[in-house]
Amino acid sequence: MEISTAQELVIPESLLGLEDVKILSSVLTDEGIIIIRVQSTKQEVCCRRCGKLCEPHGESARMKMRHLSILGHETYIEMRPPRGICKKCNDKTTTQTLSWHGHNSRYTKFYEKHMLLSMVNSTLADVSIREDISDTAIQNVIDRYIKSDVDWKKIKCIGLIGIDGISLKKGHQDYVTIISGKVGRHITILAVLKGKEKATIKAFFESIPKKKRKTIIGICCDMCDGYINAAKEVFDKSIPIIVDRFHVAKLYRKSLVKLRKQELARLRKALSEEEYKSLKSAISILVKKQELYAKGDREKLEPLFKHSPALKAAYKLACQLTSIYNSKHQKKTAIRKLDGWVEMVKEKEITCFDSFINTLRKYQDYITNYFIDRNTSGFVEGLNNKLKVIKRRCYGIINIKNFFQRIFLDLEGYQLFLKNQQVTASGIPSFKSLLRYLLRFCFHQLKGKRPLVISLAFLYTFSGVDQNRLFLD
Ligand SMILES: [Zn+2]
Repeated sequence: MEISTAQELVIPESLLGLEDVKILSSVLTDEGIIIIRVQSTKQEVCCRRCGKLCEPHGESARMKMRHLSILGHETYIEMRPPRGICKKCNDKTTTQTLSWHGHNSRYTKFYEKHMLLSMVNSTLADVSIREDISDTAIQNVIDRYIKSDVDWKKIKCIGLIGIDGISLKKGHQDYVTIISGKVGRHITILAVLKGKEKATIKAFFESIPKKKRKTIIGICCDMCDGYINAAKEVFDKSIPIIVDRFHVAKLYRKSLVKLRKQELARLRKALSEEEYKSLKSAISILVKKQELYAKGDREKLEPLFKHSPALKAAYKLACQLTSIYNSKHQKKTAIRKLDGWVEMVKEKEITCFDSFINTLRKYQDYITNYFIDRNTSGFVEGLNNKLKVIKRRCYGIINIKNFFQRIFLDLEGYQLFLKNQQVTASGIPSFKSLLRYLLRFCFHQLKGKRPLVISLAFLYTFSGVDQNRLFLD
């Protein structure tokens, strides 16, 4: 006969951290599992139908809930909660639920939060292995805590909206539009939408509660008509739609690259092999640094530019464009400068920017909105990298609803589930960034002649500092 080696343990209640219970016994079983038997110290049971106090009605069946591991041992709480009976509700019985577990839950809330915390920047498969729990069980916990779309009640201010698209599968399949908000350094996921059709984006914008719309300071996107038109149709003119400067730069640099390739092909034929070889270092500067070459590079570039005046002129023009972006112009001045730039291109008879100029004309208002507050969607690019990692982690098996939850968990999980720890890296907006946001916000309001809203906005935003703390409990 096998002799049980189960050992009695002494675990103080304060260490257990569960309210309204006393420990009856604790054992470490032969299998290395810790089982802590507890008893409720709370007498009252409230009817789950009418909420009124019930008469005592014995105890319910034994419940076994997974709790946080102790020194690496899987730990369970066992309890027979008191039961009550309600005479007003036809003798309906209710099992007592304490603050630290849900009705019929297999885990304590502490353990559920631990599971969610483990999911931050991780995968279902990994957490499933580490915790020895099925994927489905973990997903169920995620579903219980994390909504699959934005909870507007939890968002006090939206700030700068960023819109961008990615495809969930390789190639361009399953395209989704990601909408995020940024206040200071804090980024929030607002929506993951199927496709990039105007109607879908518009429907989402319309779903933003009127009060929250007033906290939007701008909308940043690329030159996508679906995005721009959706925003234009829903929001009034006080909310600028900004075509991101880096998307604009990408476009004029593309014209530059095209010309460079043409010119180099021409020179390869026109020049002797030796002459062409001597241009190698100049070529590599242009390939590496685009138009942003340093002053010291100019001498090295001169021989190449000598052979191709067109290339020289085009690079100079691109530099000028970048410098317009880099100087602190007002929107009006910027429009004038950009017009001047287009004139210069025409004078110099440079054709490589033709299609870029068409785009510039078409989106001029949105492009120059950048100069109002110099907002960019740099944060969207940062978020995109995160999304790519999530996508890779999920091996492409992910639906839109889960994708939203996972982005949310990665962005906010540490703040929500890391107890007693200050997260500063990408955490709650700092006081300084909040103040900066408020000033900018008020500036907008004044321009839109709505100063009355300002004081409200102040109160509103400051009451929202702790928004994320409210998420649980
Ligand atoms: Zn009742």
